Amino acid sequence: MKAEILCVGTEILLGDIVNTNAVFLAQELARMGISVYHQSVVGDNSQRLKSCLQHSLEQSDLVITTGGLGPTYDDLTKETVADLFGLEMELNEESLRDIRAYFKKLNRPMTDNNIKQAMMPKGAIILKNENGTAPGLIVEGKGKAVVLLPGPPREMKPMFLHGVLPYLSRYIQGTFISHNIHVFGIGEAQVESMLRDRMEALTNPTIAPYAKEGEMLLRITAGAETPEKADAMISPLIEEICGLLGEHVYGVDVGSLQTAVVQELSKRHLHIATAESCTGGLISKRITEVSGSSQVFDCGVCSYANEIKQRIVGVSEETLARFGAVSRQTAAEMAAGIRRLSHADIGISTTGIAGPGGGTPEKPVGLVYVGVDCPWHQEVLELKLSRDFPEERELIRWLASSHALYLALQTIRKYSKQV
Ligand code: ATP
Ligand code: MG
Repeated sequence: MKAEILCVGTEILLGDIVNTNAVFLAQELARMGISVYHQSVVGDNSQRLKSCLQHSLEQSDLVITTGGLGPTYDDLTKETVADLFGLEMELNEESLRDIRAYFKKLNRPMTDNNIKQAMMPKGAIILKNENGTAPGLIVEGKGKAVVLLPGPPREMKPMFLHGVLPYLSRYIQGTFISHNIHVFGIGEAQVESMLRDRMEALTNPTIAPYAKEGEMLLRITAGAETPEKADAMISPLIEEICGLLGEHVYGVDVGSLQTAVVQELSKRHLHIATAESCTGGLISKRITEVSGSSQVFDCGVCSYANEIKQRIVGVSEETLARFGAVSRQTAAEMAAGIRRLSHADIGISTTGIAGPGGGTPEKPVGLVYVGVDCPWHQEVLELKLSRDFPEERELIRWLASSHALYLALQTIRKYSKQV
């Protein structure tokens, strides 16, 4: 079955609001294994909406729209769909009762144009709105279905989950299960070229790649009669992909790099501490986001100034003078220093130039050193983060923190091999 999403609203076209409805619906449909082939946005204009809907119905079996169900003159979606399906509008008494009750509950007067919201194309399936006035609806005809949902996300999401999901379950047989393989430190293009044949050939299970901020997620989904059968179809593929990508896979269904780090530390009863410069505490923040991190995280020093790197973290004056704050040597001494100071098993550090200012030809923006220090391993990575990305301060800081977490993870995993 081919599905598509059509969001109605001039505000989205103008960029005044972000189209989060499309994101939510696309994710939900993907999770159910319903293939979304197109997404589009159209303004609050009857003619253009009509031609968009017509086009959508020609190419897809299921069209989900959001927006334009309100009481005002520019809310046109319902009327346009009725027109396309050749259906008359009629008053739906139950919807009118619900709308009246909603206004009564809020103690607000109901205006006449709210009655418009209870006018429905003949034969439509009505979806109750628990969080607003506009009911949603489903119109079926000619082997196609259009699901119309209100624009406000707080109304749209519960309506989708409670009203639309049960309706859509007729399109899927059995159950769909997904597992996520989390990948770091290898380019998206490289992963795709390694997996392209499988991605193209496989239909069940499927592999869907999602790239985000230096990481990649491979979502493996299978549909089967039971969750156990779906899992049994997924497991060999996960094993194969993990084998192919080796240590670039930092976890399966683990959620985030920081969660993986906290889990691995907990498993081995190890403690970690951080000395951060250019990441300004971002690594500490990410680690402490994870519940249970208090068992493994000892302290984080945000040693931004050279004086603090020296006086608190213990970087030598000579190192700072000779190699500078952004250097391999400083990163190494920061990692060793924070480990001494905290008595943690592992110290990690970052020092670099996040930009946009402060770069030089020898030390350009995006140059970051990430250090790790522990009894069984010491290492400093030199990263050039603006080579692949434009000089964006926040992105550079985020990527530096991810590399540090990944280095910590690799180091923790070495522990069981070497100690
Ligand atoms: P209302 O009864 O509030 O008029 P509606 O169904 O007519 O609801 P719209 O008028 O199109 O919906 O949008 C109402 C509000 O919902 C917008 O101002 C916006 O805040 C939010 N909204 C609409 N569409 C989207 C979208 N695609 N993504 C995120 N938010 C949206
Ligand atoms: Mg509206």
